[in-house]
Amino acid sequence: MGGINIKSGFKINKNNKLVYLTVPSLEQTNLVNHCFTTKQGGVSSSYFSTLNTSIFKQDNKENVLKNLNTVCSAIGIDYKRLVSTYQTHSDEVYVVEENDIGRGIAREGEAILADALVTNLRRVPIITYYADCVPIYLVDTVNNAIGLVHSGWKGTIQKIVEKTLFKMKEIYSTDPANCLVAIGPSLEKDCFEVDYDVAEQFISIFGNDNSFITYKENGKYYIDLWKINTDMLINLGVKKENITVSGLCTKCNEELFFSYRRDKGKTGSLSAIMELR
Ligand SMILES: [Zn+2]
Repeated sequence: MGGINIKSGFKINKNNKLVYLTVPSLEQTNLVNHCFTTKQGGVSSSYFSTLNTSIFKQDNKENVLKNLNTVCSAIGIDYKRLVSTYQTHSDEVYVVEENDIGRGIAREGEAILADALVTNLRRVPIITYYADCVPIYLVDTVNNAIGLVHSGWKGTIQKIVEKTLFKMKEIYSTDPANCLVAIGPSLEKDCFEVDYDVAEQFISIFGNDNSFITYKENGKYYIDLWKINTDMLINLGVKKENITVSGLCTKCNEELFFSYRRDKGKTGSLSAIMELR
């Protein structure tokens, strides 16, 4: 049970066998239902055990739907209304409307090709998927709008969180100063080891700042995606005190999280789920 007692900016909730994470600052607003899933509390088997939440993997579909129902019920969401991305590590931001309800889950084959979703509609839950990449929750508490962002290293290089905030500004008049942000479980710096070809791309875009990139004797580079995304948000006007970082590494916490790197690709998906109440 070691994993359950880890110190984190996120709150770890247990409900029978189900374990899911929430963000205290988001809970306090009473504006949203939300969670970040773990591996625990589902019915999937083999390397999807037990709470795989993605129907795009080779898992049994009925099991995935049961998993989604279990976790959504726990947080007050109707899983049949979920609007799902189909992610490709792009910088595509999609504005979810009423007629998107059910896309990708209840309406199979209609998932939205994007890596970020935004909406200002109540009772329109959105879902995005992870297994090491950085999940980012955005909540505009003044104009009542939300966003979920899938920001892996490719998304981070493409500044997808910045593009998502710009989209929210354009469509909902969102002021970053009024946003609560949460950065979920993903690879920590020490576990995100890359070769020069990837490091070079980060350096060309974000500079050679040794607070986010470290070169080690083994010829490898280590990159802090949490810091780069946090800095990007602060530069856009998000208040530092409004950003919650989970501090949980997917690769290191095997009993809680799927990790693409640790499990060498044979893994289920975690998800970020959120709706405006
Ligand atoms: Zn780690």
